[in-house]
Amino acid sequence: MAKAQVRYGGEMRKRAAAVDRQRVAKYACPKCGKRKVKRECYAVWKCRSCGATFAGGAYSLTTAVGETGRRIIADVKKR
Ligand SMILES: [Zn+2]
Repeated sequence: MAKAQVRYGGEMRKRAAAVDRQRVAKYACPKCGKRKVKRECYAVWKCRSCGATFAGGAYSLTTAVGETGRRIIADVKKR
């Protein structure tokens, strides 16, 4: 039981690190296609190239990452 809890904690730390990388990454702009989108503030993303702003996820631009989040939740439930 204790072993399982330790492994679970390690997984969570790894995932937290992944989220951290996503938060600082640049994303491709859905409008102009350039990888110039950066996080402005909480859930707001702005393209440095065309100036478009997007409301997105708190830690990454697209809902595709929301999919990842759902997948991670499913993973955790499986364990
Ligand atoms: Zn743009």
